[in-house]
Amino acid sequence: MRTQIVAGNWKMNNDLAQTQALISDLKKQIQTSNAEVMIAPTFTNLYSAFEALRNTNIEVIAQNMHFAKNGAYTGEISACMLKSVGVETVILGHSERRAYFNETDELLAQKVEAALENNMRIIFCFGEELADRKSDNHFNIVESQIKNALFHLSSDAWSSIVLAYEPVWAIGTGETASPEQAQEMHAFIRKTIDAKYGSDVANSTSILYGGSVKPVNAKEIFSNPDVDGGLIGGAALNAEDFFAIINAFGEK
Ligand code: PEP
Repeated sequence: MRTQIVAGNWKMNNDLAQTQALISDLKKQIQTSNAEVMIAPTFTNLYSAFEALRNTNIEVIAQNMHFAKNGAYTGEISACMLKSVGVETVILGHSERRAYFNETDELLAQKVEAALENNMRIIFCFGEELADRKSDNHFNIVESQIKNALFHLSSDAWSSIVLAYEPVWAIGTGETASPEQAQEMHAFIRKTIDAKYGSDVANSTSILYGGSVKPVNAKEIFSNPDVDGGLIGGAALNAEDFFAIINAFGEK
């Protein structure tokens, strides 16, 4: 069975005190879940979050990293720096990184390489914009994003890759892909991986959905056969909502 994951992307929210308060709320509600649970606080709070969640089933992950090991890259953070504070998983390719920081598929391929060299797991995000969907180009866009950044990898490397399909038009907008749209795209993604790497890799790769997942819609989205979890933005900033989403897996 594929790993099911619910990951909270806190983005540029929560200072140290707010991070500690939210983690304390999360710890009050921690329970066993069918899904792996992760949170991605901002860089400055990774270590304190890691310490606070040591010996729990909530993993602390990073929102981004640079591809270089070290050097003259002012303001950047490397894979080995993340690992040194306990981080083993990194989100790469989030649409906000692509849109506001000009991250291209080619750059992301370098980041993917660096993360793998450091034995990190990657949650790799991609997804079409509204104009792409309206012009019926969404499958082509998604296929090229995956191919350009990931299809140079060996089959073995795919055991460290989790995919996150996040239609840009659904992120932070309150708009959600319908369960049918999510399933249709996730099945397409799996078929694309199957065509390149075969069914073992395709069937063991977790594909998360992201885009305005909330307690009210999580169960319906997660019940699709090719949806293996969610990358959650806004709703991950509230412990009760985040756990309601995680609990939507209870019945899968
Ligand atoms: C995200 O940022 O990855 C995301 C899915 O955000 P939201 O849940 O707020 O749409």
